[in-house]
Parts: sequence; C-alpha cells; structure tokens
Amino acid sequence: MNIPFLDLKAQYRSIKSDVDPAIQNILDNTAFVLGKSVTEFETAFAKAHSVKHCIGVSSGTDGNHLALWALGIGPCDEVIVPANTFIATAWGATLCGATPVFVDCHPESYNTDPAKIVAAITPKTKAIVAVHLYGQSADMDALNEQLTISNYQLKEQGVFVHKTTGQAIYLVEDSAQAHIAEYKGQRVGGLGAVASFSFYPGKNLGAYGEAGAVTTNDDEVAKKVTLYRAHGASEKYIHETYGHNYRMEGIQGAVLGVKLKYLNEWTEKRRAVAARYRELLSGVEEIIVPKEMEYAKHVYHLFVIQVKPFGSAQGDSVSASASARRDALMKFLGDNGIATGLHYPVPLHVQPCFKHLGYKKGDFPVAEQLSACGLSLPMFPEMTEEQIGYVCGKIREFFRK
Ligand SMILES: *Cc1c(COP(=O)(O)O)cnc(C)c1O
Repeated sequence: MNIPFLDLKAQYRSIKSDVDPAIQNILDNTAFVLGKSVTEFETAFAKAHSVKHCIGVSSGTDGNHLALWALGIGPCDEVIVPANTFIATAWGATLCGATPVFVDCHPESYNTDPAKIVAAITPKTKAIVAVHLYGQSADMDALNEQLTISNYQLKEQGVFVHKTTGQAIYLVEDSAQAHIAEYKGQRVGGLGAVASFSFYPGKNLGAYGEAGAVTTNDDEVAKKVTLYRAHGASEKYIHETYGHNYRMEGIQGAVLGVKLKYLNEWTEKRRAVAARYRELLSGVEEIIVPKEMEYAKHVYHLFVIQVKPFGSAQGDSVSASASARRDALMKFLGDNGIATGLHYPVPLHVQPCFKHLGYKKGDFPVAEQLSACGLSLPMFPEMTEEQIGYVCGKIREFFRK
C-alpha cells in the first residue's frame, strides 16, 4: 500500500465542484491581486479566530516579516525564537535587520519552554515569537508569567513594559501550523500583539499557491501591515511609508474562502486520525507519541512521534548515533510505501546561516533530541482507517524485528 505524507489530490476532488467556479469567477473578473475575494476571506478568517483584523498577504514568511516590521522592530533589536521550528520563524527577525535569539523547547509540548526565556531576555529584546508548533498552541500564560517574573508588566494585549526602564517586549504568534487551534478555549491568532499565518498548500488551510495572513486586535498594527503590504501607499501613488509588495492574489483569496468553510470538519478529522494513531500505537515502548497539553486544542498539522534511541542514549546531549533507530524506521516505512517527514532535521541554532551568532551543538538539548529522534507520520483529514492501520502495523512490525 502507498501512503502519501498528505493527499492534496484527495482533498481537491472532494471540493472541486465548489472551488472550480470560485477560481473561474476570478478569471472572468480578472481580479488577480487583492479585490473582493481577498477582502471577503479576510473578514471570514478574522471571525473564525475571534480577532479584529486580518490582512491577507503573499506568504507566511512575509506575514512573519510584516508582523515584526509593524511593531517597529529593527537593527540592534533582539527577537526570541524557539530553536525547533521552520526557518521562516527566524526570517521575521532577520528581514527586519534584528537578531534572532534562540531558546530551547519544552520536552512535552515541543514549543518554546517558558522557563528558558528569562535567561534569553536582554535590554535589547523587543519581541518573543511563540510558535504554535505542529498545530498545538504555545503556553501563552506561562510566557506571560515569565515576563512578569522578569519585571515586565502587561500594558495591553501582548505588550509588556519593563517596570523601571520602560523597555517594551511584544508577544508575537507564529500560527503558520495552527489554524483554528485553541489555547484554553480561545483560538490562536488573537492571543498576542500580532500573529501570522501561512496558507502554503500543505498547511491545514492551504491555498493553491503561496499565501499568508497577519491578524491582530490592534488598530495601529493593522493599519501599518496594510500599508507595508502594498508599497506603503495610502492611496495610489502616494507612498506614506516604505513598503513592499506583499499582497495576496485574488485566486488565493477565492480558494481560501471556499476551503475555510471546510476547516472545522477537516480539523476534527485530523484530531480523529491522531486519536486513532494513539490507540493503535499504545504500548509500543520504543516510541513517544505527541502529548496534547491540557491547555491546548491541538489541530495536528503534524503528528510527530519520537523514536527512542538504541540503548539508553537519552538525555542531555544527543550523540550522533541517537538518530540511527529513527532513520532505520523511516527507511523501513519508506520501503513499505509509507511517506514520512522530518520536522526539523537541523535546529535553527546550528544552521549554517546563523553560524556567526556563535551557537553550538549541545546548546539546546531538547530541540536537538527532537531533530535527531522525531519522525512525522502521514497526517491528513482524508486518511482512512485502513491507511492508519497499515502505518501502525508497519511500525509495530519494525520494532518486533
Ligand atoms: C510554513 C511556515 C512558515 C512560512 O510560511 P510560508 O507560507 O511557507 O512562507 C512560517 N513559520 C512556520 C512555523 C511554518 O510552518
């Protein structure tokens, strides 16, 4: 049996009769950039996340840049970013000329470990980017608490000000993997000062090309993002500020508008696939299945298991051989037609592009362990009972050998 990592064709077949006319409508009206389809999607997406503003943009990466740009982050500033995430989380900072400062992740949630941020805060810290990694919200209250311990006081939503120096730190959400995920019953995207989303085709809500969004409850931030998205122009050819071309395409707005209507249903199906994985993999001692934290409603963009290394090589520093069993399982599944993924094989602090920042292997043991031992199983709403059973059967077979 061949099982893809995700099945965009199956999804397209299921909505073809709905999505094709929406695209045709854009062609008929030649409304290729922004326009009604984008505006309507922005309104619906904001509503779905109980947030005041949504600005459709050209990608999640561009959304990360715009979010920090609109907060005024620039050269000499530091932005705290988890070591285990997709590289684009750090691009938000670097595109503003700021420096990413990495922190380790929490061993159970895989998100930024709140206890680790205190040591990373300096007088130059301007923002903390919380990533709702794999579809599970970061522990926002715990992050708030750590800022309070460090003498920063909550001034307005997602904005903390130092009690004596007045230095402001913004709490930002990278929600690229977490559409309609919840934190303590509230949807992500409106939990901090500003948030960004990705609609890359493989994301839980995916466009038919590149697209993203920025959401915020702050009118000023929304205004700036809207300006920067389109050349800093308040009206045509009047450029109030510097800007960029970060506009969403009309076809993407139309596709996303159709797909958003299915997102609840697809998300529940992802959660059901995850629950089934848990049942069928229970008792497999050699792996750790992802934990759904009590504060989160996980939307399972990814289902990442950890394969325990051979012997007892778990703990602080992960040896080069730790990934051997994970790699062997990955190969065995591949040989049996099952596609898997690594998220992410190289943590950010040891990426070649950040060499100049001076981090080294061993700095963030949890992120390093996850990169060495994590394996993402196939995860998509259309996954059948038979497919899930086949994957779990092959995993069990591998460990029996
Ligand atoms: C996908 C992703 C991005 C970037 O989104 P694009 O739309 O691909 O630019 C940013 N952050 C995280 C955590 C992502 O998973």
